[in-house]
Amino acid sequence: MKNLLIVGGAGYIGSCTVKHCLDHGYNCIVIDNLIYGHKEAVDQRAKFIHADLLDLYSLKQVFKNEKIDAVIHFAAFAYVGESVVDPQKYYKNNIIGTLNLLNVMLEHNVKNIVFSSTCATYGEPQYTPIDENHPQNPINAYGRTKLMVEQIFKDYEIAYGLRHISLRYFNAAGAMEDIGESHDPETHLIPLVLKAIKGEIECINVFGTDYDTEDGTCIRDYIHIEDLASAHRLALENLSQYSGCINLGTGVGTSVKEIIQAAEEVSGKKCPIKYASRRAGDPAKLFADNKKAKEILGWEIKYKDIKDIVKTAWEWEINRKF
Ligand code: UDP
Repeated sequence: MKNLLIVGGAGYIGSCTVKHCLDHGYNCIVIDNLIYGHKEAVDQRAKFIHADLLDLYSLKQVFKNEKIDAVIHFAAFAYVGESVVDPQKYYKNNIIGTLNLLNVMLEHNVKNIVFSSTCATYGEPQYTPIDENHPQNPINAYGRTKLMVEQIFKDYEIAYGLRHISLRYFNAAGAMEDIGESHDPETHLIPLVLKAIKGEIECINVFGTDYDTEDGTCIRDYIHIEDLASAHRLALENLSQYSGCINLGTGVGTSVKEIIQAAEEVSGKKCPIKYASRRAGDPAKLFADNKKAKEILGWEIKYKDIKDIVKTAWEWEINRKF
């Protein structure tokens, strides 16, 4: 399985995975519609094709013209809030796009796929750490689209022999070489904290200080993108032995206040803060049980300390290219 098609490979996690797979000897073809992706983030060693999964003709051309052994599928809209106000956009892109991809894969007898899923498929946590057997009750359209794709894979496995691993990410964070977190609009905590420190935005709004956690702010599991990238390669390499779902997180929870403190230490500057009310749909605590990833994939986490993760994000933020 040397020849990979990386769909959505110009995005934050996708572009890191492209680089990582190239460094490990894979040939990578990247397709991306560039709606949210950054062409500059795609490693020059990869072949880039500007295409959209909803454009079946272009997709078929890619499979006709290129040799593809396996697919890593990152392409999705991923703004939780937007998915609630405009679910149509999410079902169309995330579900129909994936069905198109799967159907063309099967037409060309490509039966290996690694997929970006999310801890948002679990919904409101019933216990932490969250393992893969935790009930899945997503509370927004974004999470539901990801869960539906996981379920489609299971049916396609039974009927067509599809091999699939859905990687359920917790909070992707940090930067790798010249790739960092850059969304427009930016809604994520770490880049916003760094922008507040740089003076690009007035302050960081801390959403809720009355949660049932030690310091009253929400706890999340921040996993470095380089560790996510290595997990995708390991998933590919284990597809012949395993099909199913695997959590990707550090297993350690970090509060919003702890993120701000880490960013202040790393940058040596104060972060202007405003305490705001809770954001709708934010559970108090989300962190992963990552035993399965370690056991099945032999995954080892390089970035265990939140300060090291935030440091990579800060270094990228002060020299950012896009
Ligand atoms: N958060 C915050 N202020 C912000 C953005 C996020 O306090 O401007 C909090 C949010 O409530 C959550 C955590 O930071 O508890 C991580 O949020 P993010 O949007 O980065 O990721 P999510 O967990 O929603 O996927």
